[in-house]
Amino acid sequence: MQVRNLATIGGNLCNAIPSADSAPALMACNAQVEISDGKKNRNLPLEQFLLGVRKTALNPGELLSAIFMPPPVKNFASAYYKFSRRKAMDLALLGVAVSMTVENNIFSDVRIALGTAAPTAIRVREAEDFMRNKPLSDEIIIEAAKLAASVSNPRSSYRASGKYRKQLIQSLIPRVFATARERHERKVG
Ligand SMILES: Cc1cc2nc3c(=O)[nH]c(=O)nc-3n(C[C@H](O)[C@H](O)[C@H](O)COP(=O)(O)OP(=O)(O)OC[C@H]3O[C@@H](n4cnc5c(N)ncnc54)[C@H](O)[C@@H]3O)c2cc1C
Repeated sequence: MQVRNLATIGGNLCNAIPSADSAPALMACNAQVEISDGKKNRNLPLEQFLLGVRKTALNPGELLSAIFMPPPVKNFASAYYKFSRRKAMDLALLGVAVSMTVENNIFSDVRIALGTAAPTAIRVREAEDFMRNKPLSDEIIIEAAKLAASVSNPRSSYRASGKYRKQLIQSLIPRVFATARERHERKVG
């Protein structure tokens, strides 16, 4: 119980494992990290902080001292879904985070981030670019999910094959957008 409940978001990012849940969720919200050596600070987009499995942009003597997220703009909604075999104490087979800003039913901004689909959490810019300025509709989201799966190259591990993870990318993206859409409609409704 203590292990499950006593952790920090900073530790989860600095640990830099591909399945870290906070990484895609924060990436979809355009998070930046602040790095401090005690004398001066530097800021990096989270994407540039996570360099590989257990590798970050921290130099010796540096700490991650803050995490910044832009304040959510009007009509913004986000969601994260962790797919794992069990409900507790299990790492994600795939993590999907999305965020969207929707004006007059058009995606004015959209981000999709995946965990456990590469050595670090990643954005799927091809799918984001496809969706931007298009209508918020099931068809567009399904096309974007197909595109995201086709450009992703998740590895096979003893926990799941790359092929299975690709299928998860395609199936889960629409599900996570459905949650974000509900949240968006609750705000504007
Ligand atoms: C049983 C178990 C289940 C788990 N399940 C999940 C899960 O479902 N999802 C998930 O995402 N993770 C999971 N993890 C991983 C674990 O939750 C993360 O590693 C944890 O969030 C780390 O947080 P922490 O604050 O304890 O970091 P620590 O373990 O204290 O630190 C991790 C590393 O980062 C360094 N570090 C920590 N904070 C900073 C900082 N501010 N600046 C610089 N370096 C720093 C430490 O020196 C260390 O090297 C699991 C781990 C265990 C043991």
